Amino acid sequence: MFEISIRESFSAAHNLRNYKGRCEHLHGHNYTVEATVCGKMLDKTGMLLDFSVLKDEVKKIISEFDHKYLNETKPFSKTNPTAENIAKYIYNRLKLQIANNRLQISEVIVWETERNFSKYYER
Ligand SMILES: [Zn+2]
Repeated sequence: MFEISIRESFSAAHNLRNYKGRCEHLHGHNYTVEATVCGKMLDKTGMLLDFSVLKDEVKKIISEFDHKYLNETKPFSKTNPTAENIAKYIYNRLKLQIANNRLQISEVIVWETERNFSKYYER
């Protein structure tokens, strides 16, 4: 099995609903997103997927969140903008955008800080 990963980042504000603690108040994060795709077969070039293609697809998704207030941005106007839900949303969008019979999405990791991350995968 081959895997490739890329990292991108965005900045956004949020506050958590149905939560008592510091994160119920409006605040921001410099989020880091790591997306990993996997597959058993390489293409004719010897690549699983061009890193730049994966980067561009992730950038398309996170550009919708960059410098936004997530609670007022789809889908987080309804879904709580936790790192878990952000990771799941990016995973599902990537699946629609690039998954095919040779390529699967392994996981998406969203760091809220340098020390805290949430991971979403389907296995
Ligand atoms: Zn937060």
